[in-house]
Amino acid sequence: MPASAPTTPNSSGWNFDHSYARLPKMLHEHLEPTPVKEPRMVVFNHPLAQSLGLNASALAEQAAIFAGNELPEGAEPLAQAYAGHQYGHFTGLGDGRAILLGEQITPKGERFDVQLKGSGPTPFSRRGDGRAALGPMLREYIISEAMHALGIPTTRSLAVVTTGEKVFRQESLPGAVLTRIAASHIRVGTFEWAAAQRDQGALQALADHTLQRHYPELASAETPYLALLEGVMERQARLIAQWQCVGFIHGVMNTDNVALSGETIDYGPCAFMDAFDPATVFSSIDHNGRYAYGNQPQIAQWNLARLAEALLPLLHADEKQAVEIANAAIEGFKTTFEGLWLTGMRAKLGLFTEEADDRALIETLLLWMKEQKADFTNTFRALNPAAAPQEDPAFAAWHTQWQARLQRQPQSADEVQQHMRTHNPAVIPRNHKVEEALAAAVERSDLSVMQRLLEVLSKPYDPSEVQSEFTTPSSLAPGAYQTFCGT
Ligand code: AMP
Ligand code: MG
Repeated sequence: MPASAPTTPNSSGWNFDHSYARLPKMLHEHLEPTPVKEPRMVVFNHPLAQSLGLNASALAEQAAIFAGNELPEGAEPLAQAYAGHQYGHFTGLGDGRAILLGEQITPKGERFDVQLKGSGPTPFSRRGDGRAALGPMLREYIISEAMHALGIPTTRSLAVVTTGEKVFRQESLPGAVLTRIAASHIRVGTFEWAAAQRDQGALQALADHTLQRHYPELASAETPYLALLEGVMERQARLIAQWQCVGFIHGVMNTDNVALSGETIDYGPCAFMDAFDPATVFSSIDHNGRYAYGNQPQIAQWNLARLAEALLPLLHADEKQAVEIANAAIEGFKTTFEGLWLTGMRAKLGLFTEEADDRALIETLLLWMKEQKADFTNTFRALNPAAAPQEDPAFAAWHTQWQARLQRQPQSADEVQQHMRTHNPAVIPRNHKVEEALAAAVERSDLSVMQRLLEVLSKPYDPSEVQSEFTTPSSLAPGAYQTFCGT
């Protein structure tokens, strides 16, 4: 083939299937993205493209595809229907500004949704314009990729393109489209939608699809739908435990933002906590602190109860018995979560064995951190069993207890240090560093600041010298940083 031959979509590596599109009609609307004026690539994720089996270098030049102006070969675009409890209130929602192009089957045989976010209005847009602004889409790119590098299940970001069009929020902003990669976009809200339609066949089809796709090992269980509920609970418990262990605050844990795959999804007003305080909230609209750091486990359980409600008709033919089954399952969340949280926190303290007083040891440290307004990330990263305790008598007392605890396990000091290094990140996406990168990109079209931040965030546990600008907490007073829903 001559070098000048145009790259066909096929040579780009697209390999779509459409299992979601084969589900009952009430779950999706078929429509194409709305073309934009002038697509321009802002950031493209080469390693992710490669892992998806895509021709990264060819696609990095094809902004039109990631803007929705051209469809990749084999795409069958659709918007997904879903409902959700937003701040506790039930609402019909759906992809109001997103389009699923299809499910990319990777060379390893894995299946990933390829979704454009900000791709134009859909039947679910309500009063929205179906569009997204560049800042929030880059923010999702940065934080989701940081989460991935931290080892936390998450949707990924393949590309952000600008549209050459303005979007109007409080002000006029450059428009953008994000390409999101997800194990799926099936949400608790998707089940709530199916249940609200009172079509048991469709609900069951969705449940079977979810089992096959995310929990194939449970599909042949004696009670597969209870197994599904328990499987989702387990993954959510694991996910929230991981969030708690790095100080991640999702910010808008509505049921439409809870993925059945167990991935973190919908990076809106999320942010990482600096000074440890369970009451930390960043979202400008979360006035009551419903989604505060310390509430995340309870909210997860509340969201899972909404999933259980939606699944009731599949749990037992008799509604009363179905409710009993669901309640018993949901009650187990707290124990599952606490076990996983303890495992995560033990690792942060270099503990390999289990002792009954470990929880108290952890909580004493957290209480001290709260009183001192200590930086969550840096405090854990700096813990050193060998270092002489600081002057602070409360910390010194805790440190002595911790040293004694470490001595009661067989692992060497080296093993402890290694374990702690891989469970206490040196870098997280600090709010002021994220803002700095976004300001450079959006206001000055300077992408270098973001590229450098992405590079640092891609190796969060790297023991080599990280420049202090990436590890210093924001100089803003606690509570001064505000985040906004990405609309
Ligand atoms: P989110 O807060 O991003 O989880 O979105 C909640 C709901 O609002 C979803 O149904 C979105 O599709 C919808 N939505 C958010 N922004 C827009 C927009 N600009 N245009 C249309 N729908 C939107
Ligand atoms: Mg959402």
